[in-house]
Formats: sequence, structure tokens, C-alpha cells
Amino acid sequence: MDILQTDIKFVPGVGPKKAEILNKEIDVFTLGDLLRWYPYRYVDRSRMYYVHEIDGSMPFIQLKGKIMSFETFGEGRKKRLVAHFTDGTGFIDLVWFQGLKYIENKYKLNQEYIVFGKPTLFNNRWNIAHPEIDPYLSEADRPEGLMAMYNTTEKMKNHFLHSKAIHQIMGNAFAMIHDRLPETLSPDVLQAAHLMPYHDAIENIHFPKNPVLLRDAEYRLKFEELFYIQLNIVRYAADRKAKLNRFVFRKVGKHFNTFYEKHLPFPLTNAQKKVIKEIRKDTATGKQMNRLLQGDVGSGKTLVALLCMLIAIDNGFQACLMAPTEILALQHFGTFSQLLADMDVKVALLTGSTRPKEREKIHADLLSGDIDILIGTHALIEDVVQFRNLGFVVIDEQHRFGVAQRAKLWTKNEHPPHVLVMTATPIPRTLAMTVYGDLDVSIIDELPPGRKPVKTLHRFDKNRGQLYQFIRQQIQSGRQIYIVYPLIEESEKLDLKNLEEGYEHICQVFPEFTVCKMHGRMKPAEKDEVMRRFVANEVQIMVSTTVIEVGVNVPNASVMVIESAQRFGLSQLHQLRGRVGRGADQSYCILITPYELSADTRKRMEIMTESNDGFVIAEADLKLRGPGDLEGTQQSGIPFSLKIADLVRDSSILYRAREIAEKIIQHDPKLEAPDHQILRQQLSRLSGNRYDWGRIG
Ligand code: ADP
Ligand code: MG
Repeated sequence: MDILQTDIKFVPGVGPKKAEILNKEIDVFTLGDLLRWYPYRYVDRSRMYYVHEIDGSMPFIQLKGKIMSFETFGEGRKKRLVAHFTDGTGFIDLVWFQGLKYIENKYKLNQEYIVFGKPTLFNNRWNIAHPEIDPYLSEADRPEGLMAMYNTTEKMKNHFLHSKAIHQIMGNAFAMIHDRLPETLSPDVLQAAHLMPYHDAIENIHFPKNPVLLRDAEYRLKFEELFYIQLNIVRYAADRKAKLNRFVFRKVGKHFNTFYEKHLPFPLTNAQKKVIKEIRKDTATGKQMNRLLQGDVGSGKTLVALLCMLIAIDNGFQACLMAPTEILALQHFGTFSQLLADMDVKVALLTGSTRPKEREKIHADLLSGDIDILIGTHALIEDVVQFRNLGFVVIDEQHRFGVAQRAKLWTKNEHPPHVLVMTATPIPRTLAMTVYGDLDVSIIDELPPGRKPVKTLHRFDKNRGQLYQFIRQQIQSGRQIYIVYPLIEESEKLDLKNLEEGYEHICQVFPEFTVCKMHGRMKPAEKDEVMRRFVANEVQIMVSTTVIEVGVNVPNASVMVIESAQRFGLSQLHQLRGRVGRGADQSYCILITPYELSADTRKRMEIMTESNDGFVIAEADLKLRGPGDLEGTQQSGIPFSLKIADLVRDSSILYRAREIAEKIIQHDPKLEAPDHQILRQQLSRLSGNRYDWGRIG
């Protein structure tokens, strides 16, 4: 049997109870899973700290000293045990909330111990909660060098599965391994990237022999992680590119020309023209287009989509546009209907709230080909929605859709239609390569003429008086205002309460104006009505949750106030800001926060006030959020999450991995060479029961 498949409970020091915790908390079921639970940092055991040196900025440290006395505080669940520990330079409290009896019996007074932990200040006293403690051996016997530290959850700690325990279990696991661990990369990859063998890498990541070997081990494991993601993407892109859909848009015909000559509301920007040409070129080849259109908010992506759809119609195809929210779908439908009013093009709207009767009619008209353009939400991808001849699909604001959803649209015709994915969230290159690595990219890098950059200001809660005065002035000169309240993820209820209170408050402050509110739980018809009134300027202030984040377009709205701006990520702030600055007037975005801010938040506010450039914001966002916080990318269809690599820090490793993956697929597109069997095996192991990339298209 493969030792790596050994149930984790059979590793000495684990057992059934702890195994269950490891299963539940960190998805570790087998010995192999355990080995892939990588340390998040290392402590240098040659460095001993003194209590009197401790300050607030210290990470994990070790102290050498004695416990002078134990003391218990509190009752019942609040009970805690405190050991007063000293090394002769000062005192620190060691604190336990769990297993008090056990601890008090285990550790003796007046005996020398090494204590590991992160000191924190509580009630003006330094303490270490649930420290890890070892008896002090003679200086000669004391372990030296780098010791791995592992992330553990609260629950794990409560069951004595703290970092130190994991470290020990890891050692026990290694003791069970008698042969070298099998290699997980092919020889050509190992050679091309100069990588350390898998066995050595795993050993050194957990038990580094020295800093150089640790660095090599990290490089190897990071490379491997990024490499398989890239190999997946490259393989899949190559596969797709080899396929023809034979949906050739040969000509630019009557619909496009009539619209372009008679109904186009303004001349296209050069960037818009360039992108349309790129799409023209793609769709004329007979190969399926998969293109990502990036353009900052307000750059005019919708018009590009519309023009391309007209070309599809000119060539006998239908087109559809999928938006992430109902509001946005409604708005697109409105725009399209208006722009195409005098033309012989039939546009329909299909969302979750379309009535059954109407829905049936739409289904029938799609099949008969009576509908040329269908606009909707993800209701579009339901299996019952079938087209007569769908040739062109536009997905707006892609970051809300996963790869799987995108792929579903491909099945709407005998061959996959051409796909244009539009996003206003500029994606840093490393992320784009990882998440949308299979798409060709077009960029609109120019805003329509006459736009004034939005002025962004950061204000504190207490400056509200001035803010309201400013809003009043703006409305008096004819403008409209958005006020956005944050989404509190834990509780939709709280969220609404926040909004409700905000709404009441604003109504009181501005009795002379009409105020409306908008949130995600309103019925679509209600949202529609609110939106209509706002667009018609019957309402001056819209109080809203982030439902207006994407796409909504009201050029007369010139002020975006973001309450509790500290709760938003940079990309989201930029998206919200993009709702204003769409007309010819000077627009403003006002970020409201409390006075006390973390350094991170302050930095975010600074970036927002300094830059209007979506790319700058996106890069900064990725940097600030750092590793581990890439949930958004996972939703976007990244096939597996990153355990050790970091898209910001490890970009050069990523580029190298991409290069090598491309070379391999070029020479062996189906990974058929005997040496490459290992690559196939790993790909299928890593994809697990998640999305089967091989089957798309
Ligand atoms: P986004 O790229 O954020 O989706 P939209 O497509 O909503 O942007 O366009 C934003 C606004 O710019 C709309 O009001 C649209 O009518 C207008 N617009 C688009 N293209 C041009 C252009 N070439 N010249 C002037 N205004 C334009
Ligand atoms: Mg848009």
C-alpha cells in the first residue's frame, strides 16, 4: 500500500479523536495530506529572548525561565489558569483557558523550561496564551536551527493540536516513511527548472537542515503548485484553440452598418474601435473566440458588446448578454432597447423573476429565432434555455461568474459560441495568468472624451456636517447622490439594519429632497422601479447597499458617498467610485471612516485618493491583501487554492512555470509521452472532484 494513503489516525500521536479534528479543521485525512500542511513560518531556535526585551511587535519567540507560581481566575467557562513565569529579567504570564488541571500537574515550579509563543499585552501585562513548553535540556542537547511553525485553528488548539504538536506528529509521520517519497514532477520539468527532488523538498520544508535547503525546498514546492495550475490552463487553452466551431462572421452587414451610420450616439473612441477590430478578426477565422475585455469603469464596454452582437446577427446568429445582477440586466436591456428602437432587431430580457408565461414565450422565440438578442442574469444558463443558433455570448463583469458557469454557455449550440468576457476590475498580470489564463485579452485603455477624473476625498465620521452641506449644494445644482452602506457578511439582517438606519437618517437630514433605498433583497420589480425613478431624476439621493457596485450607469449622479469605507476592499471601492464620473460634470467620491484606522486601512484610503487608475488599484489591492486571501480568485474558477505560493511575491516563479508548461504542451499536447504520465496523474489528483477541465468544449 502507498504509505501516503495511510489514514492519519494511525500516525503516532494522532488517534481517532485528533484525527477527526484534523479531518474537519484542515482537511487532513491521510499522511500525504499532512505532509502538504506546510508551515507558515520558522522560528530560529538559536535565538533566545529575554522578558525585558519584549515589545508589541514581536512574532513568535522563545524564552528560557521558571514558573514561580500558578493562580486560577474566574469561574466556569471563564476559568483560566495563569503561570507566573520569569527569566530573571522580568515577569510574564502564561495563560490557559483549557485543560487547566492537566497543565498544572504537568509543569513543575522552579524547573527550567523553554516557552514558545507570541506575547501580547493584556491589562497592561505581558502574557502568552496557550504557550508551548519544553523542559530545558543542557545547552548541548537543545535543538538548534529553524523550527517550522504551523497554522492551527482554535478548535485544534483546544485539543492540544498546536503548532508544536503538529511538528511532533510530522516527525512521527516521517518516521513511518521508509522509502523516498515518489517524485511528483517529470524529469524534464525538474531539469528545466533546476528543482530539488520532491522527497528532499518535503523533508526540508518541515525539518529544514539549513536556510539554503529550506529556500530550495520552498522554491520547488511553490514552483510545483504554480506549474500545475499553468499546465492545466495551457493544456486546456491549446485544446480549445485546436477546435473549430466554424461560426464564421464573414461580413459586416445591414444591421451593423445601419446602426453605425444612423443610431450610434457618439463617435467611438480609438480604443473601442481597436477592440472591435480584434474581435472581428477572431470571429472571422472559424475558431472559437474566448476573449477577455478589460476596461476601466466607464470606458464604454457595453457599446462594444452591442456592435459585435450586431455583426453576429448580420451573419445569421443570435447573441446573448449575461449580467451578474438583475439591476444590471435590466439596465442593459433598457440601453439596448433604446439604442435599437428604430431597428429591426428583437431584444428580450430573461431573469429569475420573468413570469412563467412570458418565459415560455421567450423560450419559444429563442428556438424559432425570433429573438435576436437575449439579455439576462444567470437564468440564461439554465438548460431549458435553448437557442436556434447562438453565435455570440457576452458575459459582463466576469468576476462574479465562475469558469464552470462560463463553460455552461458553451453548450448552448452544437459548437461553443464565441465568448466575450467583459470586466471592469483590471486584473494584475499574475492573477490574470492564473485565473483567466485561457483567454485572449483586449484592453480599452481610454475613456470617452470629456470625462473629468473623479475627485476622491477621505473624511472622518465627525465631519458629517460639512459633508451634508456639500451634498445639498450638489443637489441644488441639479446633481444626484449615491450613499452606500457596507455589506456585513455575517449577517444580512444587520446589513439591512445598517441601511435602514442610514436611510432614516438621510431622510431626516434632507427633508427637502426625495430619498430612495435599494438593497439586494428587494423584489426585482421594486428595484426596477427605484432605478427608473433615479434615472428619471425623480429621486435625488439613493441610499443603497453594494448592489449598485457593478455596472449601473446614471450619468447625472455625481457624488458617491461610501459609509464605513474601511470595510471595503480596494477593488470594491474603485468599482463603487466608477458609478460616478460618467457625465461631463465634476464628480466626487467621498470615503467616510472613523478617525482611528489600522495602518492597512489608512493605506487603502490613501491609494484611493491618489489614483483613479484601475490597474494601479488592482496591483495595490493584491499586494495589500497578500497571500492566503484570494477567495475572489477561487470563485473565479481557479482550480485549486494556493498553499504555499503567493501571486505577488512569487511572480517570477509563476512566469517560469508558465514558460515551462507551454513548452511541454507544445511538444506533447496530450501529455502522452511516458515521462509525462506523472503530470497527468498529478493533474487529475489535483483537480480531484472539482471541475473536470478536460471535458469542457
Ligand atoms: P463600462 O465600460 O463601465 O461598462 P459603459 O458601457 O456603461 O461603461 O459606458 C459608460 C458611459 O459612457 C455610458 O453612458 C455610455 O453611453 C458612454 N459611452 C460609451 N462609449 C462612448 C463614446 N465613445 N463616447 C462617449 N460616451 C461613450
Ligand atoms: Mg458595464
